Amino acid sequence: MSHIKSPHSLHDKSYYQGTILCVDDEDNILSALRRILRKHDYPLLFARNGIEALNILEKNNIDLIISDMRMPEMDGAKLLSHVAKRWPNTMRILLTGHADLTSTIEAINQGNIYKYIKKPWDENELILSIKQALELKHSETERRRLENLIREQNQQLHRINSDLSERKLEVEQRESRLGRILHSSQNEIYIFDAKTLLFIEVNEGARKNLGYNMDEISKLTPADIKPEFSQQEFLTYVQPLYKNHQKQLIFETLHQRKDHSTYPVEVRLQLSHTEKTPVFFAIIQDITERKKNEQQIRYLANYDSLTDLPNRRFFMEKLMDALNQAKRYSKNIAVLYINLDRFKQINDSLGHSTGDGLLIGVAERLNTAMRDSDYISRNNATNNNNFCRVGGDEFTILLNNITQAEDAALVARRIQEALSKSIMVEAREIFINTSIGIAVYPNDGKNIDDLVKNADTAMYDAKKAGRNTYRFYNDSMNARALENLEIENKLRKAHDLNQLELFFQPKINCKDSHICGVEALIRWQHETDGWISPADFIPIAEENGLIVPIGEWVINTAMHQCKKLHDAGFADLDVAINLSSRQFQNGDLANLIQQALEKHQVDPNHIEVEITESILMEDTELAEKTLNQIKAMGLHISIDDFGTGYSSLSYLKRFPVDILKIDKSFIRDVHVDNDDAAISGAIIAMAHQLGLKVVAEGVENKEQLEFLRERNCDQIQGFYFSKALPADKLTALLSNPSKMLKY
Ligand code: C2E
Ligand code: MG
Ligand code: MG
Repeated sequence: MSHIKSPHSLHDKSYYQGTILCVDDEDNILSALRRILRKHDYPLLFARNGIEALNILEKNNIDLIISDMRMPEMDGAKLLSHVAKRWPNTMRILLTGHADLTSTIEAINQGNIYKYIKKPWDENELILSIKQALELKHSETERRRLENLIREQNQQLHRINSDLSERKLEVEQRESRLGRILHSSQNEIYIFDAKTLLFIEVNEGARKNLGYNMDEISKLTPADIKPEFSQQEFLTYVQPLYKNHQKQLIFETLHQRKDHSTYPVEVRLQLSHTEKTPVFFAIIQDITERKKNEQQIRYLANYDSLTDLPNRRFFMEKLMDALNQAKRYSKNIAVLYINLDRFKQINDSLGHSTGDGLLIGVAERLNTAMRDSDYISRNNATNNNNFCRVGGDEFTILLNNITQAEDAALVARRIQEALSKSIMVEAREIFINTSIGIAVYPNDGKNIDDLVKNADTAMYDAKKAGRNTYRFYNDSMNARALENLEIENKLRKAHDLNQLELFFQPKINCKDSHICGVEALIRWQHETDGWISPADFIPIAEENGLIVPIGEWVINTAMHQCKKLHDAGFADLDVAINLSSRQFQNGDLANLIQQALEKHQVDPNHIEVEITESILMEDTELAEKTLNQIKAMGLHISIDDFGTGYSSLSYLKRFPVDILKIDKSFIRDVHVDNDDAAISGAIIAMAHQLGLKVVAEGVENKEQLEFLRERNCDQIQGFYFSKALPADKLTALLSNPSKMLKY
């Protein structure tokens, strides 16, 4: 340890302080040393022999040891050689007598002592040696400290250097990696001068995509690969980057290859000022695939995949555009709502793939028909975006520039004509008819929803009018809708208040002219409106579902009456109950009938259910299942209004049918019209061949009766005998049948 310069030096000459250990076995020498050294303020320690000295050294920091040579047990040379080994930084001075010269020289040679001083010493020489020794020690210590410092700094420098070179290597590697990535990226990467627009760097991806070689590409400018833009336009377009309004511009455009073909790209453009002159960085991605996907998604969202026609969504958008135009320029537009007649029947009987094939055929036929109608509705019909498949077997057409409503009728007629020719599906010839409803802007609707809804309503009107026809929407339909709503409300009330009644119309056996059965027919006398015909309110009840509770009431009331009549002695009488399709859809019809049979204790053999052909066609499987259940209970099944619907013979075999009721429209003129006569005659003959009974309804006169009798019709029902009667009047008639009209 070194001591700094003493602050209170006794002499003018500055010197280094240090703790001194004096070792001698002679007291007078130690005293002499103390006296001399104290003058110089050295901190002092004393020892009388080598062992004592080593002990002190062990516990204290000694800068200088002054030891006598001659001491018992351990002489000075030996002590100092110990010290040299153990405390090499402690300075060592040996006090010697004349006789000790040899061992002193040896100690010097071995480097164990710094100096020897001969006794008796010269005080000045002694002090000078001590000062020199301490100074040397101090500078040695200082040297070592500096050496350490330098070593440490060197080490640190070395560390920093190796750190730096590591980092430099990393940066270099990263740059070369980035460079490789940029170069091999499939994206096109361009760096080009922001002023001249000449390329500075172009990557391999760009070269490949554009089809140039490296040499050619270096001479290109953005204008060469993006011919949509002139240089000036480009500079105008990128203004926001110059003005620092935006950091990056992203836009889509087309790139042109060397062979002049183009492809869609997304451009990300940045302006950089870090280089000597400002440059553009452009990263460009080929988005051909993305565009394809977008197109595919747009197609799926807007087109019907079966027929490739636009779907309802797309149609509504088109209609909205057309409507806006029509409003602005005071033009007329028309919406045609097309429904294929009896499509369901085809689908059910020939299978869904034939049904699909037919829809495709219809779409194609519509396409051709619309092209041919070009002259009617200018500049829109050729564009097949103007018609669409709204769903199922329904199509809509938009005529967005018609002069008069009659133009739409012309198109409707043309479509019906085109579609009435057979369509080949899977080597099968299929005939189809269409019902078309037309709504014209501005008269029939002011917005797109009303126009489509009203065209749809008109289509239903066309269907009711006998299919394969078209109808315009008109306000009377609206009035009818309101009227229907009113009837619905009143009917609900009537049902709740038990105001509905069940009448019974007799059926006569043609052979013996006796009343063999009755048909239960619902009657409703409204307190102010009077009698309301079932033909008016049953369709409404079917539409809103009221027919389900009303139908249940009919079943129970009819069976209750049947039981009463049987108990009253008319045990052979059959009671026919009309069922509507809605009751079938409800699911538990068979169960409901079973419960009614049990409740009223009637013989199922005397109950008939009358169903229309449409029930069989609407949900064939459900109808078949329910009818089989009903049949299994012992009831009879009768097809009502036969001849007006599908008149398909195949289902007569498929379903457990017992009776055919020829519709009154065939009977009305059966005695005067050859066609009706032929049809009715054929129905009777055919039914008999299939083992079915035949009932003719709507018989109003004797001629009709005669005709039917001749053809062996089984039963007759009609005003000629009796209208439908309330239960008490029926009982009276049954008791006295001669009251009936003569027959
Ligand atoms: P429908 O089942 O074909 O019933 C025969 C219809 O022909 C009855 O009309 C009857 O009054 C009428 N009619 C009978 N004889 C003659 C005739 O000689 N000349 C003419 N012009 N008509 C005759 P109504 O009672 O008005 O019933 C109409 C339709 O309402 C029924 O046709 C039936 O489909 C339905 N309907 C009646 N009651 C019910 C019922 O309880 N439930 C269901 N679901 N429908 C019913
Ligand atoms: Mg009936
Ligand atoms: Mg009928």
